[in-house]
Amino acid sequence: MPRPLQRPLAIDASHWRRDGQPKVRYSNRSDALLAADERSKESGTELGVYECAFCKGWHMGRIGGRAGDSDA
Ligand SMILES: [Zn+2]
Repeated sequence: MPRPLQRPLAIDASHWRRDGQPKVRYSNRSDALLAADERSKESGTELGVYECAFCKGWHMGRIGGRAGDSDA
């Protein structure tokens, strides 16, 4: 079985936040990584980024969190 190229980590890889609003969209991985790094430092929560299959943009998500358990 080939390993998936994306989502090597358990990450909340959704287009939607738990409150039903769309997540902040970043147009490229670099922007998403920068934002995720800042957010991680602020919140103390480790965040990762992923390319969204829904909007083809990039979102950040909590690593190891339950699905939808992120306000990013
Ligand atoms: Zn999306």
